[in-house]
Amino acid sequence: MGATLFLIASSSAHAQSRLVSPQEPSSPERQDHRLLLYNTHTAERIDIVYRRGDQYISGALAKLDFFLRDHRTGDVRHFDPRLYDILSDLTFSIGHPDGEIDIVCGYRTSSTNESLRAHTTGVARNSLHIQAEAIDLRMPGVDTFKLRQAALALRRGGVGYYPHSDFIHVDTGRVRQWCFDCPASLTTGD
Ligand SMILES: [Zn+2]
Repeated sequence: MGATLFLIASSSAHAQSRLVSPQEPSSPERQDHRLLLYNTHTAERIDIVYRRGDQYISGALAKLDFFLRDHRTGDVRHFDPRLYDILSDLTFSIGHPDGEIDIVCGYRTSSTNESLRAHTTGVARNSLHIQAEAIDLRMPGVDTFKLRQAALALRRGGVGYYPHSDFIHVDTGRVRQWCFDCPASLTTGD
């Protein structure tokens, strides 16, 4: 367990140093990893330190799991905390450290996912939202296309771009990308 946490922490520190954000503290590693989130469905807000050094804080993770629950059913599932590192590192890399993130979608039960699939387009059958390994988000005051580019640069999982709905999807699955219903100019190179 300790070894796993160490590996996660060191790979995260490596990613941060590679991004060379001017706002980044010069200390070897950020101690407190904080997230400010706003849930666009429940209108709830959370301001939380979820990791200190290389240790995730279990009480904070439980609060985040609840915050990101399926808002239709109330079901809660434990999220992959590496997703929070992606969110935290995203705020740094775009120059808004600890900036507020709007959560468009967190956990989805299978039934909610099926219902979304029936009524909207762009929802995958085996969405990683069902595994609590994906989050859809945008950031107020940040161009969503730039947010997408920053997420791609992290190379830490999947990144989907939904320009018409103005959000990106990030997950802890394999590194891949897609652009939903995008103009050809944006899909070049996908
Ligand atoms: Zn998504």
